[in-house]
Amino acid sequence: MGDNYSQLVSRISEAAKVSVDEIERKVEAKRAKLSGLVSKEGAAQIVAAELGINFDEERMKISELVHGMRKANVIGKIIDIYPVREYNKNGRAGRVCNLMVGDDSSNTRAVLWDEHHIVMVEQGKLSKGDVIEISNAGVRNGELHLSSFSDIKKSKEKMDNVIEAKVYSMRKISDVKPGDSFSSRAVIVQVFEPRYFEVCPQCGKKVSEGKCSGEHGEVEGVKRALLSIVLDDGSETMRSVMFGETIKKLGLTDDEIFNLDAFGEKKLGLLGEERVFSGNVRENKLYNTTDFTIQDVGDVDVGALVKELEGKS
Ligand SMILES: [Zn+2]
Repeated sequence: MGDNYSQLVSRISEAAKVSVDEIERKVEAKRAKLSGLVSKEGAAQIVAAELGINFDEERMKISELVHGMRKANVIGKIIDIYPVREYNKNGRAGRVCNLMVGDDSSNTRAVLWDEHHIVMVEQGKLSKGDVIEISNAGVRNGELHLSSFSDIKKSKEKMDNVIEAKVYSMRKISDVKPGDSFSSRAVIVQVFEPRYFEVCPQCGKKVSEGKCSGEHGEVEGVKRALLSIVLDDGSETMRSVMFGETIKKLGLTDDEIFNLDAFGEKKLGLLGEERVFSGNVRENKLYNTTDFTIQDVGDVDVGALVKELEGKS
């Protein structure tokens, strides 16, 4: 995955015909002047503007999008289309439609706020698998936002190697809210005993008292485990849950997951383990808490460190 900041710096360097080192010096000077109130990416954009460089006409890769851009141009393939939703917030009502758009660098959500664009989706003029051209979109938190000033249309270009797997960005636990997907480099500070339940082998829905909660009647349930842990990334702690194969990524075997004695022997060893956890945050209405559902666990590697450092700057 690309490194936003260095990509931006090398773009500025090429366009301004000034060395990368020089651009980085200017960025640091700008940040110092603004008492560190802007991110490195933000400072780089100011430096670019001061050097008279304008990315307005340029096409960006999705991994190069930087928060705060106002006229981003992207070409990508529609990976997914979500149902149109109605909103009514702070006296403003309307409709919104989200698309997942990917290119060979990354993928992101494109949020359509304009009725004309939403109708294009509803009429099937834009559909899954289409390569599209987006222009004049705003960038907020890595997402493309299309207003009535933005444009979206089908492109004749072919696209290969589109990244379709979910891309998680590095975030601090204290910054996340329900609905967010993110990665965090965090330490396991609490581990609870696994809980077990059974699912239907045909549909994966819960089995209770030998019956599928879906439509399969009496079935032989398959045993599944749920593990609750508490993570701490230095900013805050967060209660987290993980299921099935994901639990094995902590280095546990099936026996250690499904046998409480074997689990007990491993439990202490998990405390203090530092990994990169990726998943989504959900509101737990029952307990009035936010839970992090972990979808992936990775080792702490240099790439993740670089991303995290960027996120902190
Ligand atoms: Zn079933």
